[in-house]
Amino acid sequence: MENKFCNIPDCNDQDFSLRLYNGVQFCTAHYNEKFIAELMSHLEAWDGTIEPPDRLKYLIGRYYGENEIALIGQPSLTKDIVHRRAYNWLKTKDGIVFTTVRYPVDKKKGYPFCVEVHQTWLFNIRTLTYTFLSEGKK
Ligand SMILES: [Zn+2]
Repeated sequence: MENKFCNIPDCNDQDFSLRLYNGVQFCTAHYNEKFIAELMSHLEAWDGTIEPPDRLKYLIGRYYGENEIALIGQPSLTKDIVHRRAYNWLKTKDGIVFTTVRYPVDKKKGYPFCVEVHQTWLFNIRTLTYTFLSEGKK
């Protein structure tokens, strides 16, 4: 019979929306705890002078993708854009700054414009929010 409970001993959570973290089943609270702990350990280990390890970029993208983060009045973002297309990674006192590349679609014609839009974002490590900082075209 399938185990319907969180894998943390003594967890009394009756959450049936269990989630897998590295192949192990957890309640939402313990899932988030594991996820944030790994994210923070990669952040601490990264010295900020070279490109971050793929796992850190993946986690920053995955956090965005898994949480319904309000980006009211800001451009859209996806986990794959953060993980695979972001560059210029920089560690600051507030968190991590990165730049994404997007190819906007012409709404009338239905295909991408021949311009690249470079958008710079801050991932705030205290509030776990994403803030759009600036945009430039190439
Ligand atoms: Zn639990």
